[in-house]
Amino acid sequence: MTKQFPIDKFRTLETPFYYYDAQLLRETLSTIKEESGKYDRYCVHYAVKANANPKVLTIIRESGLGADCVSGGEIKAAIKAGFPANKIVYAGVGKTDWEINLGLEHDIFCFNVESVPELEIINELAAAQNKIARVAFRINPDVGAHTHANITTGLAENKFGISMQDMDHVIDLVETMKNVKFVGLHFHIGSQILDMGDFIALCNRINELQEKLYSRQIIVEHINVGGGLGIDYSHPDRQAIPDFKAYFETYHKHLRLRPQQTLHFELGRAVVGQCGSLITKVIYVKQGTNKQFAIVDGGMTDLIRPALYQAYHKIENLTSEEAVETYDVVGPICESSDVFGKAIDLNKVKRGDLIGIRSAGAYGEIMASSYNCRALPKGYTSDDFI
Ligand SMILES: *Cc1c(COP(=O)(O)O)cnc(C)c1O
Repeated sequence: MTKQFPIDKFRTLETPFYYYDAQLLRETLSTIKEESGKYDRYCVHYAVKANANPKVLTIIRESGLGADCVSGGEIKAAIKAGFPANKIVYAGVGKTDWEINLGLEHDIFCFNVESVPELEIINELAAAQNKIARVAFRINPDVGAHTHANITTGLAENKFGISMQDMDHVIDLVETMKNVKFVGLHFHIGSQILDMGDFIALCNRINELQEKLYSRQIIVEHINVGGGLGIDYSHPDRQAIPDFKAYFETYHKHLRLRPQQTLHFELGRAVVGQCGSLITKVIYVKQGTNKQFAIVDGGMTDLIRPALYQAYHKIENLTSEEAVETYDVVGPICESSDVFGKAIDLNKVKRGDLIGIRSAGAYGEIMASSYNCRALPKGYTSDDFI
């Protein structure tokens, strides 16, 4: 089954643009609520960096999820969309003073701290505001995720987090500080993870750490396992809602929570990935040597994932049912990497056809740039067309 798009509406809009299926997004969110709600004290946050379109953020906020931010700008966007500050967590290896101060002013739920110097500065800035900041330590669990090297974050070689060896020292240190309160442990091993074995490895590592802490009579209130659940880029319509049942079940089965501990999740891609498509128009069909190009008006400035990560996105001709031919689908940017897909089978393409680049709801619009002095793409939701 292929998804139906409101083509007549699309024809009235300037391309390229992002289109978000609000109904699919709402169904995805209610599945998350239902599956995580089966377990006590499971608390899901949305990773704002995946997509901060205000309309998308508002729909997610309405579902009751919290927000996971990685910058002051994201904290502002989350507050603006109505996320309550006590549901905002803030991670990042390079938090600047104004960003920390912003989090303190709003009294956000928790700072996920990634180094000792950062902890010291949070303590100092909190003292200046006469506040006590809740902090969790982001621990680098040295667990690999079987995913693209650029999106693996939980290996010892990555820049993220505090190493397990340093954890004891950091906990000793935090006990001596007056304006920070140690409330939890945070982890995030990577993105686009489809092998539940990677999450099981993380659970096992957390269990070991909890044992170690327990032997020091330390039980933290909060465990945050980050995000990373992937989506099916090859078949956007086959299982448009990721398998959240299996995801939460995996944590329930393998992670040993202590009584009263809350388990936090930070899902980005799995929440918004499948509801978004980049809609772009064919400008020219050009015959090359032994191939033909469909040259579209969208480019790597609108969706950089194929150029940046060699990511695959399914490409469809939304306005043709003619016999299939093979094309390289390329954008207009002056870079050889500005290619959405090579040797793609599409219903015969002509000038003016609308092309849908699927599964583009996550790390799409938010990563757009104005390289080549291009305008940023607009984003519409299906709610806009009712
Ligand atoms: C990016 C990120 C996430 C979300 O990752 P997804 O793969 O989109 O689920 C969660 N937590 C942190 C700390 C992140 O940096």
